[in-house]
Amino acid sequence: MDEWKGVKFKTVFLKKEVQTDLRIEDLKYWISRFGFYDLCQPFAGRSYGNMSFRLKPGSDEFIITSTQQGFREDITDDKFVKVVECDMENIIVKVEGLELPSSETFAHYVVYKNRPDINAVFHGHCTKIVCSTDIGFCTTEKRQPYGTVELANEVLKVLDKENFIIIKDHGFLALGKDIDDAGKVTLRAYQKCFQ
Ligand SMILES: [Zn+2]
Repeated sequence: MDEWKGVKFKTVFLKKEVQTDLRIEDLKYWISRFGFYDLCQPFAGRSYGNMSFRLKPGSDEFIITSTQQGFREDITDDKFVKVVECDMENIIVKVEGLELPSSETFAHYVVYKNRPDINAVFHGHCTKIVCSTDIGFCTTEKRQPYGTVELANEVLKVLDKENFIIIKDHGFLALGKDIDDAGKVTLRAYQKCFQ
Protein backbone atom coordinates (compact mmCIF):
# COMPACT_ATOMS: atom_id res chain seq x y z
CA MET A 1 0.00 0.00 0.00
CA ASP A 2 1.24 3.47 -0.87
CA GLU A 3 1.99 5.72 2.07
CA TRP A 4 1.47 9.49 1.78
CA LYS A 5 4.82 11.25 1.40
CA GLY A 6 3.67 14.51 -0.19
CA VAL A 7 4.44 15.46 -3.78
CA LYS A 8 7.46 13.65 -5.19
CA PHE A 9 8.85 16.34 -7.51
CA LYS A 10 10.53 19.67 -6.91
CA THR A 11 8.27 22.68 -7.55
CA VAL A 12 9.69 25.97 -8.84
CA PHE A 13 7.34 28.97 -8.45
CA LEU A 14 7.78 31.33 -11.43
CA LYS A 15 5.08 33.67 -10.11
CA LYS A 16 3.13 33.67 -6.88
CA GLU A 17 -0.33 34.71 -7.97
CA VAL A 18 -3.90 33.36 -8.01
CA GLN A 19 -5.10 32.09 -11.39
CA THR A 20 -8.17 33.82 -12.82
CA ASP A 21 -9.32 31.58 -15.71
CA LEU A 22 -13.13 31.39 -15.98
CA ARG A 23 -12.98 27.64 -16.61
CA ILE A 24 -11.94 27.17 -12.97
CA GLU A 25 -15.67 27.50 -12.16
CA ASP A 26 -16.41 24.52 -14.43
CA LEU A 27 -13.81 22.43 -12.60
CA LYS A 28 -15.43 23.40 -9.29
CA TYR A 29 -18.76 22.09 -10.59
CA TRP A 30 -17.20 18.73 -11.44
CA ILE A 31 -15.36 18.60 -8.13
CA SER A 32 -18.75 18.79 -6.40
CA ARG A 33 -20.11 16.07 -8.74
CA PHE A 34 -17.15 13.84 -7.87
CA GLY A 35 -18.04 14.31 -4.22
CA PHE A 36 -21.66 13.40 -4.93
CA TYR A 37 -20.68 10.17 -6.71
CA ASP A 38 -17.98 9.32 -4.15
CA LEU A 39 -15.23 9.37 -6.79
CA CYS A 40 -12.62 11.01 -4.57
CA GLN A 41 -12.05 8.34 -1.95
CA PRO A 42 -8.81 8.73 0.02
CA PHE A 43 -5.76 7.02 -1.47
CA ALA A 44 -2.50 6.65 0.48
CA GLY A 45 -4.40 8.23 3.35
CA ARG A 46 -4.18 11.83 2.20
CA SER A 47 -4.77 11.99 -1.55
CA TYR A 48 -8.25 12.37 -3.10
CA GLY A 49 -7.81 13.03 -6.81
CA ASN A 50 -7.24 15.98 -9.09
CA MET A 51 -8.51 17.75 -12.20
CA SER A 52 -6.92 19.86 -14.90
CA PHE A 53 -7.56 21.58 -18.22
CA ARG A 54 -5.27 22.65 -21.05
CA LEU A 55 -4.90 26.41 -21.32
CA LYS A 56 -5.00 26.63 -25.12
CA PRO A 57 -4.72 24.37 -28.16
CA GLY A 58 -1.14 23.56 -29.12
CA SER A 59 0.22 24.43 -25.66
CA ASP A 60 1.18 21.95 -22.95
CA GLU A 61 0.43 24.44 -20.17
CA PHE A 62 -2.48 23.51 -17.94
CA ILE A 63 -4.27 24.51 -14.76
CA ILE A 64 -4.53 21.79 -12.11
CA THR A 65 -5.91 21.49 -8.60
CA SER A 66 -3.37 21.81 -5.82
CA THR A 67 -2.16 18.85 -3.80
CA GLN A 68 -4.36 17.38 -1.06
CA GLN A 69 -6.99 20.12 -0.90
CA GLY A 70 -7.90 19.78 -4.53
CA PHE A 71 -11.21 18.04 -3.97
CA ARG A 72 -12.78 20.02 -1.16
CA GLU A 73 -16.35 21.08 -1.95
CA ASP A 74 -15.54 24.63 -0.80
CA ILE A 75 -12.34 24.85 -2.87
CA THR A 76 -11.19 28.43 -3.48
CA ASP A 77 -9.41 29.95 -6.50
CA ASP A 78 -6.03 29.96 -4.77
CA LYS A 79 -6.06 26.11 -4.87
CA PHE A 80 -5.64 26.07 -8.67
CA VAL A 81 -2.13 26.14 -10.05
CA LYS A 82 -0.86 26.84 -13.56
CA VAL A 83 1.74 24.29 -14.70
CA VAL A 84 4.12 25.96 -17.14
CA GLU A 85 6.77 23.27 -17.56
CA CYS A 86 7.29 19.64 -16.54
CA ASP A 87 10.80 18.21 -16.56
CA MET A 88 10.31 14.46 -16.06
CA GLU A 89 14.03 13.78 -16.36
CA ASN A 90 15.06 16.01 -13.47
CA ILE A 91 11.70 15.66 -11.63
CA ILE A 92 10.96 19.40 -11.60
CA VAL A 93 7.64 21.19 -12.17
CA LYS A 94 7.53 24.95 -12.89
CA VAL A 95 4.33 26.69 -11.88
CA GLU A 96 2.50 29.95 -11.34
CA GLY A 97 0.27 30.00 -8.27
CA LEU A 98 0.27 29.91 -4.52
CA GLU A 99 0.13 26.17 -3.77
CA LEU A 100 1.99 23.02 -4.75
CA PRO A 101 0.37 21.35 -7.78
CA SER A 102 -1.27 17.92 -7.48
CA SER A 103 1.08 15.01 -6.82
CA GLU A 104 -0.07 13.41 -10.13
CA THR A 105 0.96 16.41 -12.25
CA PHE A 106 3.22 14.20 -14.42
CA ALA A 107 0.33 11.85 -15.30
CA HIS A 108 -1.69 14.86 -16.53
CA TYR A 109 1.32 16.21 -18.39
CA VAL A 110 1.91 13.02 -20.43
CA VAL A 111 -1.72 13.22 -21.58
CA TYR A 112 -1.44 16.84 -22.77
CA LYS A 113 1.94 16.19 -24.36
CA ASN A 114 0.82 13.12 -26.30
CA ARG A 115 -2.90 13.64 -26.97
CA PRO A 116 -3.56 16.95 -28.76
CA ASP A 117 -7.28 15.98 -28.95
CA ILE A 118 -7.57 16.06 -25.14
CA ASN A 119 -8.07 19.31 -23.23
CA ALA A 120 -9.23 18.15 -19.79
CA VAL A 121 -8.12 15.36 -17.45
CA PHE A 122 -9.93 14.14 -14.32
CA HIS A 123 -8.28 11.74 -11.88
CA GLY A 124 -10.43 10.07 -9.24
CA HIS A 125 -10.31 7.23 -6.74
CA CYS A 126 -13.11 4.68 -6.56
CA THR A 127 -12.50 1.16 -5.32
CA LYS A 128 -15.37 -0.36 -7.29
CA ILE A 129 -14.24 1.15 -10.61
CA VAL A 130 -10.59 0.20 -10.00
CA CYS A 131 -11.65 -3.39 -9.26
CA SER A 132 -13.91 -3.60 -12.34
CA THR A 133 -11.19 -5.01 -14.55
CA ASP A 134 -13.60 -7.47 -16.20
CA ILE A 135 -15.87 -5.01 -18.03
CA GLY A 136 -13.49 -3.82 -20.69
CA PHE A 137 -11.81 -0.77 -19.15
CA CYS A 138 -8.29 -0.10 -20.34
CA THR A 139 -5.87 -0.68 -17.43
CA THR A 140 -2.21 0.17 -16.90
CA GLU A 141 -0.12 -2.95 -16.77
CA LYS A 142 2.11 -2.47 -13.76
CA ARG A 143 1.39 -1.04 -10.33
CA GLN A 144 3.55 2.02 -9.56
CA PRO A 145 3.75 4.29 -6.51
CA TYR A 146 1.59 7.42 -6.68
CA GLY A 147 3.06 10.68 -7.97
CA THR A 148 6.02 9.13 -9.79
CA VAL A 149 7.42 9.43 -13.31
CA GLU A 150 7.06 5.63 -13.45
CA LEU A 151 3.30 5.89 -12.91
CA ALA A 152 3.04 8.57 -15.62
CA ASN A 153 5.02 6.34 -17.99
CA GLU A 154 2.63 3.42 -17.34
CA VAL A 155 -0.22 5.74 -18.37
CA LEU A 156 1.72 6.76 -21.47
CA LYS A 157 1.98 3.11 -22.58
CA VAL A 158 -1.83 2.72 -22.85
CA LEU A 159 -2.69 6.30 -23.76
CA ASP A 160 -3.06 5.75 -27.50
CA LYS A 161 -6.78 6.19 -28.18
CA GLU A 162 -8.31 5.45 -24.78
CA ASN A 163 -10.30 8.12 -22.96
CA PHE A 164 -10.92 6.19 -19.76
CA ILE A 165 -7.96 4.49 -18.11
CA ILE A 166 -7.70 2.56 -14.86
CA ILE A 167 -4.42 3.17 -13.04
CA LYS A 168 -3.73 -0.27 -11.63
CA ASP A 169 -4.56 -0.64 -7.91
CA HIS A 170 -4.96 3.13 -7.60
CA GLY A 171 -7.63 5.10 -9.48
CA PHE A 172 -8.79 6.24 -12.90
CA LEU A 173 -8.13 8.93 -15.50
CA ALA A 174 -10.95 10.36 -17.60
CA LEU A 175 -9.89 12.35 -20.66
CA GLY A 176 -12.13 14.79 -22.51
CA LYS A 177 -12.05 17.16 -25.47
CA ASP A 178 -13.17 19.76 -22.90
CA ILE A 179 -14.05 19.87 -19.20
CA ASP A 180 -17.67 18.78 -19.63
CA ASP A 181 -16.62 15.94 -21.88
CA ALA A 182 -14.17 14.62 -19.25
CA GLY A 183 -17.09 14.70 -16.79
CA LYS A 184 -19.32 12.80 -19.21
CA VAL A 185 -16.59 10.19 -19.86
CA THR A 186 -16.37 9.72 -16.08
CA LEU A 187 -20.13 9.33 -15.61
CA ARG A 188 -20.40 6.87 -18.50
CA ALA A 189 -17.74 4.68 -16.86
CA TYR A 190 -19.47 5.08 -13.50
CA GLN A 191 -22.78 3.91 -14.95
CA LYS A 192 -21.13 0.98 -16.74
CA CYS A 193 -19.63 -0.07 -13.44
CA PHE A 194 -22.60 0.49 -11.12
CA GLN A 195 -25.49 -0.56 -13.37
ZN1 LIG B 1 -4.53 9.25 -7.21
